Amino acid sequence: MKIYIKTYGCQMNERDSEACSGMLVARGHSLAETEKEADVLIYNTCSVRDQAERKAIGKVGIMKRLKRKKPDLIIGIMGCMAQNHGEELLKELPHVDFIIGTGQLHKVPDIIEELSNERVKHVLVTENPDVLDEMATHYAIDNNQIFAQVAITRGCNRFCSYCIVPYVRGREISRKIADIVKEVNELVQNGVKEILLLGQNVAAFGLGGDVNPPAPDVSPFADLLVELNDIEGLERIRFTSPYPSYFTDKLINAIATLPKVCNNIQLPLQSGSDRILKKMNRQYTAEQYLEIINKLKKSIPEVTFATDVIVGFPEETDEDFAATRDLLNEVGFVNAYLFKYSPRQGTPAAKIADQVPQEVKENRHQILLEDLKQRTVAHNKTFVGTTQQILVEGPSKRNSERWTGKTTNGKHVMFTWQDGIQPGSIINVAIKHCSTASLFGDIVE
Ligand code: SF4
Repeated sequence: MKIYIKTYGCQMNERDSEACSGMLVARGHSLAETEKEADVLIYNTCSVRDQAERKAIGKVGIMKRLKRKKPDLIIGIMGCMAQNHGEELLKELPHVDFIIGTGQLHKVPDIIEELSNERVKHVLVTENPDVLDEMATHYAIDNNQIFAQVAITRGCNRFCSYCIVPYVRGREISRKIADIVKEVNELVQNGVKEILLLGQNVAAFGLGGDVNPPAPDVSPFADLLVELNDIEGLERIRFTSPYPSYFTDKLINAIATLPKVCNNIQLPLQSGSDRILKKMNRQYTAEQYLEIINKLKKSIPEVTFATDVIVGFPEETDEDFAATRDLLNEVGFVNAYLFKYSPRQGTPAAKIADQVPQEVKENRHQILLEDLKQRTVAHNKTFVGTTQQILVEGPSKRNSERWTGKTTNGKHVMFTWQDGIQPGSIINVAIKHCSTASLFGDIVE
């Protein structure tokens, strides 16, 4: 059968879709480029914002017309929205054949095959801690792929007051170091040069779900990084997304000393106001957050940081917002995912009465976006005149004479292709000029 998968939301969802594609291809199915040519449509959904759910529901709703024309078409919803609403979705979307939550994704191929024999609705939304390993080794990989995402943990135990993830992704589980190392070794044998380690809270890897900050000399995540760094042929290791409290001295030291661990670090802040951090149930203060940043800056002089921030959290005052803005400027973030708070039903924050008006959220969001743009342009200018080592990705989508790659701190670099350069090559580029989004230069020996 021809399967079309549409993915909404985060990188973990992208990875789940890739794993499902890999499992389906291994069973002899093929992947469709468009919904029209497919026999099976799967929507891998996100619940982080109400808007993401409405978008997916709207899209699946439209597919009712296609199903009228093609009655054999199988339509399924998987992922966080499936887990969040389960059977309820069938009331609004009665033409859907299966609903599979986050803990049961490995059963997608079986369900599709059962549906091709007999049309009964399938709703699977219970937890299954085995899902991580069952899906881990499935990749829809092609031979030129130099980049792969590797899930190392799943779920979250932190219960930040605004976040639906612990409810839809379940409790935190970690894979075994040996299994991850084996998987990455296989990826590298297939040509992968760079991996992105994924988890809702990667830095809590291997701590057994304990939410208390570990001692300074403890970090199973650092132990994993050490083992991955030893893999011959692997060039770069990135990770997302870590909760700040798990940045122990041991982890900071590993990031600073392991040459393959990239030095653009994502450290979600969410707010620079202690009052709001407390309401968010984020268990660190702005000062503790800055302490981690400063330790990283001290150990890795060229480090850059990315972060996540929510503006307009309930009861956020102008002073709270100013504290966030000041902290963002003080750290000098050159990459930030800036979100306007949107209440999620079932989370504690959604029950707080004093919700910030939409226009205030918009205004604060714009201010941070403008600050970010200015910081990014200023930062990009510091690269002009330097030589950067980049991992080559391939031809640029807009201009095939130009090729692109990335520096260790994630800057996009455009350069003119030369004979012998291939995706995965490591080259030096002399940076000549820059834009807000990219650096431009020429290859040097
Ligand atoms: S740590 Fe991240 S995934 Fe976990 S509850 Fe908080 S925001 Fe959600």
